[in-house]
Amino acid sequence: MEHAHVASDIERVIATKEEIDARIKELAAQVAKDYDGKNLLLVGVLKGAVMVMADLTRALDIHVEMDWMAVSSYGSGTKSSGVVRILKDLDRDITNREVLIVEDIVDTGLTLHWLKSNLESRGAKKVEILTMLRKPEAAKVEVDVKYVGFDIPTDFVIGYGLDFDEKYRNLDFIGVLAKHVYA
Ligand code: IMP
Repeated sequence: MEHAHVASDIERVIATKEEIDARIKELAAQVAKDYDGKNLLLVGVLKGAVMVMADLTRALDIHVEMDWMAVSSYGSGTKSSGVVRILKDLDRDITNREVLIVEDIVDTGLTLHWLKSNLESRGAKKVEILTMLRKPEAAKVEVDVKYVGFDIPTDFVIGYGLDFDEKYRNLDFIGVLAKHVYA
């Protein structure tokens, strides 16, 4: 879905489709270089990371496997709870695997901090993180993120997988949600 269809719900655009495409290609080139020949397992975090995963993997010219987890962090609001629950676990054993978690956004960092140590505790060889967006000023815990698409301010953003109340995930750009939508 394009900007014109939801213009009144968007306060400002953070990244256009073209900017996202270009950044994904850069990230993919870096990942391909770092993981060539390493049998990389990409772990996408549902549902937000679907778009990043779909675009990143198609831009990668190395063999990778994909698996998915679903964890709950937010309810239907805009504040992080810090409580993480596994709603869907991995299908495969990850012992001795090189794992790259693929996320849409690091906000407080609580979800990824928890997820990274959870996957490490299963005996993965190495667990790293790729996120499309990061809000450095919102960090409540330190999370070591290897690849970041864009660092952004703390505003609530939507699009390219990110939702508000399950909507806007299908926007082809990333924007700040206008306050009138949720205030
Ligand atoms: P964290 O645990 O606070 O880092 O939050 C991680 C999760 O919260 C993300 O995977 C998103 O699902 C959600 N989230 C955080 N910030 C935003 C936002 O600005 N828009 C939409 N979802 C967000």
